[in-house]
Amino acid sequence: MTEYHIGVDSTDSAELGMCTTYLGALIIEEMEKLPVELSTYPELVRLNPNVPWKTRGNGAVALRFSGRRGQERRMFDTCCEMIEKYSIMEDPQTNPGLVVISGNVPEEFTETYHEALHRLMGTDEIIPLLKEHECLFRGWKNGRGLIGAVSAVGARFDEFTYEAILYRNGEVKDRERLVDPGSVREASRKHPSTFFNVDDRGDLVCIPHSPCPVICGIRGLEPVDTRSALLEVSAGRAERWVLWRTNQHTDVHIVAIDSLKDASPYSSVSLDVVVDSEPSYHGGGHLSIPVRDGSGHTMTAWAYEPTKGFRKELSGLIRGDSIRIWGSVREGGGRFERGINLEKVEVQELEKKRDLVNPRCPLCGGPTESMGKGQGLRCKSCGNREGLEKLPMEVKRKLSPGMIEPPPTAWRHLFRPSSVTPVKELEVAPPFHGLLFEDHQ
Ligand SMILES: [Zn+2]
Repeated sequence: MTEYHIGVDSTDSAELGMCTTYLGALIIEEMEKLPVELSTYPELVRLNPNVPWKTRGNGAVALRFSGRRGQERRMFDTCCEMIEKYSIMEDPQTNPGLVVISGNVPEEFTETYHEALHRLMGTDEIIPLLKEHECLFRGWKNGRGLIGAVSAVGARFDEFTYEAILYRNGEVKDRERLVDPGSVREASRKHPSTFFNVDDRGDLVCIPHSPCPVICGIRGLEPVDTRSALLEVSAGRAERWVLWRTNQHTDVHIVAIDSLKDASPYSSVSLDVVVDSEPSYHGGGHLSIPVRDGSGHTMTAWAYEPTKGFRKELSGLIRGDSIRIWGSVREGGGRFERGINLEKVEVQELEKKRDLVNPRCPLCGGPTESMGKGQGLRCKSCGNREGLEKLPMEVKRKLSPGMIEPPPTAWRHLFRPSSVTPVKELEVAPPFHGLLFEDHQ
């Protein structure tokens, strides 16, 4: 028996459809016509969310098979044909990459996976590695997908979650999905280890509105539960499903740093900072929060409009508040300076907030009122105007220590919400994929 690993990346397009996971599903079916079978879950590998040239979620796939020796050339040729047939080559961002190897995964591939989560890589770093290990590989157009393909093959998850995805035919490009929302809500209730199905208002968040072949994706922490929940979703035009094991919602893209000077562009970081001055809103409803680290370096952290209530809560921060921030480092350029796009914030310690308030009357103890701008204060009970001045008084803060997170609609794939504890122990529970043709013809 031989182990085979296939990595594929960058076949889809944000505007024109496709999804590399869908191609993964089709490849699995073709491979199983050969004397090989999936040896574990197909893997959906999310990489650096900050790369400027990503297709949609910067997700590559790794498919691992075991079977009769000597199959790699046939596997490779079939994958090449399928990539050519299905990839959205006309999108300039789509630059497919394919890697097929047999035997053990080289250690350098796993190192590449970790690097590809944290920085921008070039194909010039990848191709020598592929040649050195005598891999079957091919890049289309600029070949950038090879970075994701090698990273996917090299991926080793310390922590992971699952996503069961239902697919329609890749030819269907409607933005509408024929999903019964009641069936999703019911499945979500019945399978509590699933998450990211429905938001606080009961709206479905697990259904894309793009022209891609994904009908619905159910994320979860238990494989059997996640698969069952998906298969209970009632949806028109469903053709196939795959249960992916994935690094989604694990924060594996985050590097803990001590100083803002180590916040390199295109990486994602977490560190403790102090709010340097009051947050303020800008055009488009984006909120900026100037922050300072322990050694005095400063930077601006941003919470964008689509994060909705997240911004509103953060707008309550004041100078001196101690917080921990998680976010991606935005490169400066043009009219923008380098900054951190916030993914979540932990309020650690709140500064005392003082506001100037009207004093009590020193003569009678009654409440006082302002008589208008620059007119001083007057006692509302006895009319006294003497010895009255606004006083700084501590006011109650609206914020309290703890996590502040955006709503699910604003989550990135790798974002780890405090409500999710990713899995560490692998439980292999096939089947990993299936066809639904007979139900829908
Ligand atoms: Zn008075």
